[in-house]
Amino acid sequence: MTETSTNQIAVILATGNRDKVRELRPLLENISPLFSVFSLNDIGLDVEIEETEATLEGNALLKAQTIFDLLADRFPFMVVLADDTGLEVKGLNGAPGVYSARYAPMSDGNPPTYTENLNHLLHCMSGIVNRNARFRSVIALKGILPSPQGSFLFEKTADGIVCGTITLEPKGTCGFGYDPVFMVDSTGKTYAEMDMAEKNSMSHRSLAVKKAIITLRHILEQQGIAHTALNAKL
Ligand code: IMP
Repeated sequence: MTETSTNQIAVILATGNRDKVRELRPLLENISPLFSVFSLNDIGLDVEIEETEATLEGNALLKAQTIFDLLADRFPFMVVLADDTGLEVKGLNGAPGVYSARYAPMSDGNPPTYTENLNHLLHCMSGIVNRNARFRSVIALKGILPSPQGSFLFEKTADGIVCGTITLEPKGTCGFGYDPVFMVDSTGKTYAEMDMAEKNSMSHRSLAVKKAIITLRHILEQQGIAHTALNAKL
């Protein structure tokens, strides 16, 4: 079982999605030498959280809070990071949005696959001229950190948006989800035509994570715990 020592802060990526863990881990590992980054898989937590809220913010907070509660006895200091992402297409009045993971109909009671969702999107867009779209990610942070008063609880959200166009057919083989049909306006390439480093340098999720990291640093500073001096304070 993975544990942290008392002078470490566990950063928990509250997702069972390996594609997201692969994207998020490198973005978070360098925040502080005291931060140890774990996926749910790393800590042996196998939990499926139903996204029951009507907004990306609501779902991201729901996931962060649920994992925080489950791990409260295990990590004295931790930051749980959860995300929810939606693809919002102008010509579809913002759909699939918060329902991006469940856009295509279920088959045999199973949730749709990435390919089924992508094909359903292309099908729904046949004949639609306005193919403008945007990816929006919301990162929720729920944490408990050491502070001069003992401990400090917090909850924050940050979002990241990337604008693009839905292509007429899939292009590229990298990434996941709707990546092959989402052409990033500023590059002329779909996400699936970018390697992970290039996608990470500009993606909706990395923009949201970068904002969340700035928020986290602010919190550390406000609590009088500069991230470079954390060791001395603990
Ligand atoms: P989630 O609820 O945050 O897991 O995201 C909902 C759905 O959006 C996922 O099932 C994917 O189909 C899609 N999605 C999320 N992030 C990305 C991305 O970076 N690229 C392409 N599709 C994504």
